Amino acid sequence: LRRQGPAGRYAPSPTGDLHAGNLRTALLAWLQARQAGARFILRIEDLDRPRVRPGSTEKLLADLRWLGLDWDEGPEQGGPSGPYLQSERLSLYQAALQRLQDRRRVYPCYCSRRDIAQAASAPHGPTGIIYPGTCRALSPAERAARQARRPERLPAWRLVVEERTIHFDDRVCGPQHQHLGREVGDFVLRRADDIFAYQLAVVLDDALMGITDVVRGDDLLDSTARQIALFEIFEQPAPRFWHVPLMRDATGERMSKRDGSDALDLLKDQGMDAPAVIGYLAESLGWVEPGQRLSAPELLQDLGTDAIANLGPAPERS
Ligand code: GLU
Repeated sequence: LRRQGPAGRYAPSPTGDLHAGNLRTALLAWLQARQAGARFILRIEDLDRPRVRPGSTEKLLADLRWLGLDWDEGPEQGGPSGPYLQSERLSLYQAALQRLQDRRRVYPCYCSRRDIAQAASAPHGPTGIIYPGTCRALSPAERAARQARRPERLPAWRLVVEERTIHFDDRVCGPQHQHLGREVGDFVLRRADDIFAYQLAVVLDDALMGITDVVRGDDLLDSTARQIALFEIFEQPAPRFWHVPLMRDATGERMSKRDGSDALDLLKDQGMDAPAVIGYLAESLGWVEPGQRLSAPELLQDLGTDAIANLGPAPERS
């Protein structure tokens, strides 16, 4: 059942403490949704079990609340379709994968990372090694033989991508295109370690939750064509995409959860309260003067209608 009206979401992976860059993306997603009068959904993307850090989900809910960002559905509100923890939605992903298996849109892949890297012509695309299609057209006997080489290992499931260019118009980054066959190759929907791939889960959830606007970091711009292909396969409208610039630290590097750079706790330790942190994030976007303090609702009130779209690279005008 698809719910009506605009909806946005923030979909963090609970793999570590949120740093200022994550908070800035969360703030932008919240601002876009609230400015549009949209439902705002919080979805915890906790499928990648080896990377999930215990306690991280509770911590990030507390951090968002501390910052003054609220959401309409999700783990705490237990909304009509909540709670939105991807780990509790596995049967949905399984059912969708099964439909693709029935329609032969996916195939089992027995290649190890090494097999793929060694495949004679495995070239690199912007998203890594382009899968050379080794397992795409195996006969049942060949499949059995490949499985027998590593009987304990499950196959991954890959989508047969179409040989065509996907175009989309990013609200922040402008017109984009990617040829899935040449630049990505058949990509994985369920991993060999029995984990549903991000690409599958994110598309199903965005469709099921009726998301109309995806605001997220521009490190995911490269995933978007794959996701649009999946929306088409599931016969669902693709949302609008707003890929916002990732925040950089003082040395110009992208912040990562791993190095713990600018975790919210560090900012708090420096004596910053929520209005100081919102001010700091807004200043990093060029929206307010250094040292300005303001709450998230105050920032929302002052925000120009094009402010988020204008965060992108200046359009080339002829
Ligand atoms: N869970 C993803 C991440 O934290 C973001 C997914 C998305 O916004 O599409 O990187």
